[in-house]
Amino acid sequence: MTDTPTLSGGNSFKPQKRTFLGLLVLTTCLFILLLALLWYVPYVGLQTLHPRLPLILGLLFAALALAVVVAVGILGLTVALGRDLPFSRSLRGLLIKLLLPLMSGVGQLLGISKDRVRRSFIEINNQLVLAQRPRATAEQLLLLMPHCLQFHECQFRITGNVLHCKRCGKCPIKGLAELSEKYGVGLAVATGGTLARRIVVERRPRLIIAVACERDLASGIQDSYPLPVFGITNRRPFGPCYDTQVDLARVEEALTTFLVPSPGSSQEKPRS
Ligand code: SF4
Repeated sequence: MTDTPTLSGGNSFKPQKRTFLGLLVLTTCLFILLLALLWYVPYVGLQTLHPRLPLILGLLFAALALAVVVAVGILGLTVALGRDLPFSRSLRGLLIKLLLPLMSGVGQLLGISKDRVRRSFIEINNQLVLAQRPRATAEQLLLLMPHCLQFHECQFRITGNVLHCKRCGKCPIKGLAELSEKYGVGLAVATGGTLARRIVVERRPRLIIAVACERDLASGIQDSYPLPVFGITNRRPFGPCYDTQVDLARVEEALTTFLVPSPGSSQEKPRS
């Protein structure tokens, strides 16, 4: 098995990933502690019901604790090695449905901002998506962008159709429209989560490369599951939701990573 393409994220434990994984390990320890307590307390009284009951309960809790440790271990290894290990697909579901809300709660207790936890979650989700090596043709791939990338004074309505962009170059929509044209992939701009969901339902992509803020990306990844979503956070030099920016090189790198060249296309195969 070869290493998965790393994009800019790499397979190493970047600080963003460390936040989430650190919280995950801490939550696992707390969970095991809770199980130990749950076992110990009845232990004192359970013996009176049946002498073997405390032992049976202890074994059950130990098996549960082991399952959690194995699951977290596989998740950590998948992220670290960038390889599609057994059960890593189900673990992406676990990460999205259960661990993100849990980690946000634990993070808040420790004074870690929600956005920091979400950033970390997005990085780990990306790593798990990369590990699964999903590939899509141009027709199956969708670039989903937030409306806040558009220059605030632009008069052209691009949410319905990005072709309305006149490519004046005052905002990243020009570069994104060029990428969409160059690779023949669909490009859609959404004003919010509801429109984004409608676009996904209508276009039925097999893979999405989405750009948004941490909050919208995290909820978009959750809403779209099991569809793989590779998330790229936008930059907000003028504050949230206003003339935001995106690293076009990173978007193109993601495109070439996931795209299967159509027959006869001169595009190069995605590189590792
Ligand atoms: S690049 Fe397109 S969307 Fe951006 S300001 Fe110019 S015309 Fe408007």
